[in-house]
Amino acid sequence: MTFLPPEHDKSTAVVNMPLTDSFSRKLTYLRLSVTDRCNLRCRYCMPQSSFSWMPSENILSFEEIHRICRAFCKSGIRKIRLTGGEPLVRRGLVGLIQKLNRLEGLEEICLTTNGTLLGEYAEELMDAGVTHINISLDTMVPDTYASITGADMFQKVWDSILKVLELGFPQVKLNAVVIKGVTDSDIYELARLAIEYPIDVRFIEFMPVGDSIPWSPDSMIPSDEIRNRLEREMGHLEPVKRHAGAGPASLYRLKGAPGLLGFISPLSHHFCSTCNRLRVTADGKLRLCLFSDSEIDIKTPLRQGMGDVELEQFLRKAVAVKPEGYHALGKEQVSCSKRMSSIGG
Ligand code: SAM
Ligand code: SF4
Repeated sequence: MTFLPPEHDKSTAVVNMPLTDSFSRKLTYLRLSVTDRCNLRCRYCMPQSSFSWMPSENILSFEEIHRICRAFCKSGIRKIRLTGGEPLVRRGLVGLIQKLNRLEGLEEICLTTNGTLLGEYAEELMDAGVTHINISLDTMVPDTYASITGADMFQKVWDSILKVLELGFPQVKLNAVVIKGVTDSDIYELARLAIEYPIDVRFIEFMPVGDSIPWSPDSMIPSDEIRNRLEREMGHLEPVKRHAGAGPASLYRLKGAPGLLGFISPLSHHFCSTCNRLRVTADGKLRLCLFSDSEIDIKTPLRQGMGDVELEQFLRKAVAVKPEGYHALGKEQVSCSKRMSSIGG
């Protein structure tokens, strides 16, 4: 479903007021999908049989992305995560990041990537202003990697991880989706990386996002169970206090480990009451909740000539109707039909 744009009200003074929704949540974090294209076919995201790309004219141009980000930063967004699809398959991404890095008010530019092309771009990304890198890696076993992603590229990803560590990125995180019978035996080796390297390893519950992914309630392992399994194998996990504005992961430390272990539990422990995030899809739709298919079209009014001040007002009104949370959406089982690769995770 696509909402009509909110009415423009030029009388509203908007500049420098924090961006808040009707539940008084301050919105400071934007996740923006720069493309729905990807060079992998992870079975939980983009199963081989089921996809067609969005027509390229529907994808936001870099100029449109920059305008949207600038308007959001003027309204209080402090952190932007570029995601996809695979953001690094979009040519010219580094140039976009250089421009975003000059936006007033923006404190963090983050990238979520599958890591396959990261080795090639790591230095440029650092110079351009990327501060945080999340790399998706579900296993340390090359054969399992190939069977999950459809590509024999484990070594490339691992080399990229070593490279970003060597370059000294301020924060490097690994994201692993845990799927029963597919990747749940891989959690131990991944967790050990946090002992050996200054990497936070975060385990994500497998989510029913996209119509055709092979999700069933049985395929998802709740985070508490993943944490218990790790604790039995590796010893006590000390809870780490999270600072305000920290992401949704519950964090733990293994004694003496430089990295943390994190658990992201969108299904078993929703974090809607503290949600500070907004999403813009690759085709320019503002998505206020991952699990709500209601979207607000930004691209059309932009292409119809909406000016910068109107854009800010438009976004401010649009975010005000962010739903309380997916538990309040009246769904028995959360899910959404749009593919994760166009939403950006
Ligand atoms: N291609 C990049 C990558 O893989 O990191 C960025 C886009 S990807 C859609 C963003 C994140 O969503 C990844 O960490 C991926 O593992 C996660 N993801 C995709 N499908 C998922 C699902 N069904 N359940 C949980 N996480 C999922
Ligand atoms: Fe591509 Fe990322 Fe989806 Fe895997 S999770 S198919 S790498 S977009």
